[in-house]
Amino acid sequence: HVGKIKAALGDDVSIRVDVNQAWSESQATYGMAALQEAGIDLVEQPTPAKDFASLVRLSKKFNIGILADESIADSTDTLLLAQQGFTGSVALKIGKAGGLFGALDVAAVCNAAGIGLYGGTLLEGTVGTTAALHAWSTLPVIEFGTEMFGPLLQCDDIVKSPLNYHNFGVEVPTTAGLGLEIDEDKLRQYTRKAK
Ligand SMILES: [Mg+2]
Repeated sequence: HVGKIKAALGDDVSIRVDVNQAWSESQATYGMAALQEAGIDLVEQPTPAKDFASLVRLSKKFNIGILADESIADSTDTLLLAQQGFTGSVALKIGKAGGLFGALDVAAVCNAAGIGLYGGTLLEGTVGTTAALHAWSTLPVIEFGTEMFGPLLQCDDIVKSPLNYHNFGVEVPTTAGLGLEIDEDKLRQYTRKAK
């Protein structure tokens, strides 16, 4: 299925898949070989989060990129995976790492270990997405780009001016703080009151 999508879209389009831990190592070996053959660029978290050993072996077995997501929350996880010889990339998420500094700590360990980066999201709204954008914008290189599209899935917002998405990118706000102004009326409208 993915191979047919790739064939239809051609070489100019990067196709990545997120397996979300669904495969055993043997299934991943079979699946990643097929995905590599089809020209897919990246396979995210093919095997279970705690199975670092399979992730390391798979990262060495294939040329196709492999991305650790659920395996990596903070810099301690990152160091353990790096020490085992992982050669892929890591999905940064501020929610997994406990905030901006935690996520940047993960990035620092990756940089030291030669592990690539991806700017991930837990589909935060505009506030969380903007916070992550500020953190990612301080990183010199993010090998596999970012996926900061959470606000685009919302039909309304609690900020006065939405983020400016265009040309498959998004502008990092430049005013003070996060660069956002909360719409207090909308915030009140969407506040859930305890019963
Ligand atoms: Mg994922």
